Amino acid sequence: MSDSVVVCTWDQGREGLPAGAEEALTVAHALAASAGLELNWLVAGSAPDRVAEIAGKYGVVHLDRIEDPKLSGFQPDVCVEALAQYCKEQAPKLVLIPQTFDARLVAPRLAVRAGAGVVMNALKLAVDGGAVKVTASAYGGDTRVDYELTGAESCVIGVLSDMLLAEAPEGATSEPVVRQVSVDLGAVEERVRVIQEAHLEGPRLEEAQVIVAGGVGLGSQENFKLVEDLAQALGGMAAGSRPAVENGWIDSSRQVGLTGKITRPVLYLGAGISGASQHMVGCAAAKTIVAINRDPDAAIFKYASYGIVGDAMEILPEITKAVKGA
Ligand SMILES: Cc1cc2nc3c(=O)[nH]c(=O)nc-3n(C[C@H](O)[C@H](O)[C@H](O)COP(=O)(O)OP(=O)(O)OC[C@H]3O[C@@H](n4cnc5c(N)ncnc54)[C@H](O)[C@@H]3O)c2cc1C
Repeated sequence: MSDSVVVCTWDQGREGLPAGAEEALTVAHALAASAGLELNWLVAGSAPDRVAEIAGKYGVVHLDRIEDPKLSGFQPDVCVEALAQYCKEQAPKLVLIPQTFDARLVAPRLAVRAGAGVVMNALKLAVDGGAVKVTASAYGGDTRVDYELTGAESCVIGVLSDMLLAEAPEGATSEPVVRQVSVDLGAVEERVRVIQEAHLEGPRLEEAQVIVAGGVGLGSQENFKLVEDLAQALGGMAAGSRPAVENGWIDSSRQVGLTGKITRPVLYLGAGISGASQHMVGCAAAKTIVAINRDPDAAIFKYASYGIVGDAMEILPEITKAVKGA
């Protein structure tokens, strides 16, 4: 087992950097620095040229590349095989995988192949008295659980990158050594085949910079229009809590939360939303949260930078008017 921590990413079918890579590198760097582990980054499949520059910002020692035509697009069997061969050769102590939808198909299977433990939903890693501790989200985001990784075995860790902020550590810059790692994927037959892919049209809530969301407190579809008006005036997107979606006030593609979308806007304004943990999971990483609720004890105020106690039906039109007049 080598004394290294490796962040593994692969071609996830989108342009640009692999989703969650920088957030996972942030966590990995902090751990590597405190535990004296070597930080490496495996990029399997295609990646933009700037991965080397990004790797340097996080103090990556080795930027490992696996380039194989079979790794273009996401194929879980191929991906698991490539990562398993890599882990067998490099024997990293810890394997960190940004927890995208695809990663959930990979991390547990990789752990079995590598004879490693597995922890998903990780938010923080630390070393305590020589043991690696992982803090992870559990029970739908309600609870934080601390795990201790026992023994000398390796561990695969899914990092909940949607809930973390990427922050290149000061003074960590490195000149990563690029290593081409060869794996043999010739014998891998993908067991599940994509027969159709339907891409949603229009802007994505996850990428919105401004979100105005409404909840049960809006009371009706008609009143929900006040949320849409303000979102439009701000050049943002309207969204809703799960009950708002269930009531048919807004499309399910606009649901924020655990079973909806995890968002990270610059501004999140929630009106008539109580602030249940399952909702806040989807917006707590917003830079600024503004809450409008007539109950001064509503949980959402604990998260909000600015809170307005009052009737959303009176306040929303006033804000919209002010924005339009600005
Ligand atoms: C496994 C699981 C997954 C879930 N996933 C999600 C999810 O993805 N997203 C999600 O949102 N929820 C989710 N939920 C549901 C979640 O637990 C809450 O029930 C839900 O978020 C509450 O929605 P709400 O805030 O709109 O409604 P409520 O909790 O009913 O809150 C309404 C709020 O409006 C306020 N209000 C009432 N009238 C006014 C007014 N005139 N002006 C201002 N404020 C007013 C009230 O004071 C209250 O705080 C999930 C639950 C479970 C168990």
